[in-house]
Amino acid sequence: MFWTKKTSFTVNERFEGDETVVYTDYGRGLVFKRFFEEEKFRKELSLYEMLKGVDFVPSILGTVSQPEWWGILMSSEGESIPVDDVEDPSVLTFINRSLTILHDRHIHHHDIAARNILERSDGTLVLIDFANGAFDWECRKMEVEDEIICEDEETLDFASPSDPLTDFCSLV
Ligand SMILES: [Zn+2]
Repeated sequence: MFWTKKTSFTVNERFEGDETVVYTDYGRGLVFKRFFEEEKFRKELSLYEMLKGVDFVPSILGTVSQPEWWGILMSSEGESIPVDDVEDPSVLTFINRSLTILHDRHIHHHDIAARNILERSDGTLVLIDFANGAFDWECRKMEVEDEIICEDEETLDFASPSDPLTDFCSLV
């Protein structure tokens, strides 16, 4: 599927990141992510393609390839959750479930944060921004060669349901 010139897009919001620019059209429910490095574009696109059909990631609607830049058109799913909500039990449950499903598909996210979790109008949550994502074999390689600890594993430790009784006993 390709994004043709006929597709109209009204920029309501423009967010400039380190290596991308993200444009949002709230009226049409669209997000356009523009990349300046082809490798990063291909990587993020391939991760999203492996997640097709998963209910907590945006839908990819099309791509653009230009000589100097690349772009992915995707569905706009809502706004980021407030930073404090990351410790909310429902958000922790979401992080646990989504990372488990990603890892089952051999994909790591590596950047779980409030800004990358969106809330849809029906209250369900969506995970975005796979720019730091990696396949599990790449992550294992980094762990061995660069002695980097998988950020998802650290996040999962944080998000795992703790047993309040155990916590209490350890204090006694
Ligand atoms: Zn990892």
